[in-house]
Amino acid sequence: MKVLKFGGTSVGSAERIKNVAKLITEDGQRKVVVLSAMSGTTNTLLEIADYFRLENAVGASDVINRLQNKYEGVIDELFTDADLKKDCLETIHGILDYLRSFANRPFTIFEERCVVAQGELMSTNMMYRYLLQQGVKAAFVPALDFMRIDKNCEPDFKFIEENIKAKLEADSDELIYITQGFICRNAYGEIDNLQRGGSDYSASIIGAAIRAEEIQIWTDIDGMHNNDPRYVENTKPVRMLNFDEAAELAYFGAKILHPTCITPARMYNIPVRLLNTMQPEAPGTTISNQTEKDKIKAVAAKDGIVSIKIKSSRMLMAYGFMRKVFEVFEDFKTPVDLVTTSEVGVSLTIDKENKLDEIVTELKKFGSVTVDKNLVIICVVGDMEWDNLGFESSVVEALKDIPVRMISYGGSNYNISILIRKEDKERALRLLSEHLFK
Ligand code: ADP
Ligand code: ASP
Ligand code: MG
Repeated sequence: MKVLKFGGTSVGSAERIKNVAKLITEDGQRKVVVLSAMSGTTNTLLEIADYFRLENAVGASDVINRLQNKYEGVIDELFTDADLKKDCLETIHGILDYLRSFANRPFTIFEERCVVAQGELMSTNMMYRYLLQQGVKAAFVPALDFMRIDKNCEPDFKFIEENIKAKLEADSDELIYITQGFICRNAYGEIDNLQRGGSDYSASIIGAAIRAEEIQIWTDIDGMHNNDPRYVENTKPVRMLNFDEAAELAYFGAKILHPTCITPARMYNIPVRLLNTMQPEAPGTTISNQTEKDKIKAVAAKDGIVSIKIKSSRMLMAYGFMRKVFEVFEDFKTPVDLVTTSEVGVSLTIDKENKLDEIVTELKKFGSVTVDKNLVIICVVGDMEWDNLGFESSVVEALKDIPVRMISYGGSNYNISILIRKEDKERALRLLSEHLFK
């Protein structure tokens, strides 16, 4: 069975929903379909949550009323069957009333998570009932019944596998299984989510849990491009990536994929295809265990990076120094991305600032500490076996006029990462495209 995920733009209007319904049913094959919220809805829900947090019930109510108008318009366009239309309207009104119920009561992160979960519940309800109207044998599979994260916010694969398999077996003669991306329960049974863009991750987790033959991520562009199309013109789709290359690009900022969404697919060697809903015949990108030799594939950029340099004469000829430094980051549950070292110092980067002050206080016990904020990691990915000549020099050559804070090469066979200032990001991305892909 295949798992197909459709992003916000792909279900962003009644017309798009109809289009997706056609796309998922025309081959007559059983599949799991994971949907995001309609585009804009998750941001709107966060806006509503902000109003509630600020105890501005009127502000929240205005935005909820706007949402109501939008969804009623979509339902009007979708349904010709009066009963299904009534059912769908009842569900959406129920969800909107649930949102209204948060007014004038304490509003914490727990309530916020309940609010942001409603977008995927609305889109899947509409799609499910629309499929029924079209005579499709469809089942509604609530993600909150099977998608769970543990105390470390990692997917609880055993629980997920048992529960989704049971759901699919219970309704084994259906054609389309509709479920929500993004939303889940946490280790305490509360409503939670897989972070922004998390529907890709949902699809990959489900794909791994049911050992799907393929995971398809349908979006608004024809695959992973060789550079970020939001900043660089004339980018081109990359036809093939291996799991490591794709994981690296996703982690280092290629927005088309959630940062950790490749991991579950790679666990069971399930190919991931990135496809364009607006251009379904385009080949897109296939991510698998196949490697194309001798090629630089793509460039991505990750914002919000902080670099920390620790200088200490005690590091000279000493062992155990690195362990002590890294233990500080472990104690504060802060992942380290890049690392470079010299005889008397180590520089590293993090992308989570919430424990920065505590980390710096601890590190000062080992030596002098310098912190630089507002940096960007540029990541160049491809077949970079160390005996392939010239790849790293062409990257450095492309960036010769840009101040570089750190370079990391040789950590794997497939990437070079460069740390630069935020204000140089767009120029660096363009220069890399000109040098590497022309
Ligand atoms: P969805 O809502 O379908 O999940 P996203 O907006 O999350 O879609 O991801 C698709 C967008 O990712 C594209 O429209 C594009 O602007 C952006 N993007 C950033 N980097 C890349 C890249 N290297 N290749 C393709 N798209 C990229
Ligand atoms: N709707 C969620 C978001 O906007 C999840 C997703 O679209 O993948 O982040
Ligand atoms: Mg996305």
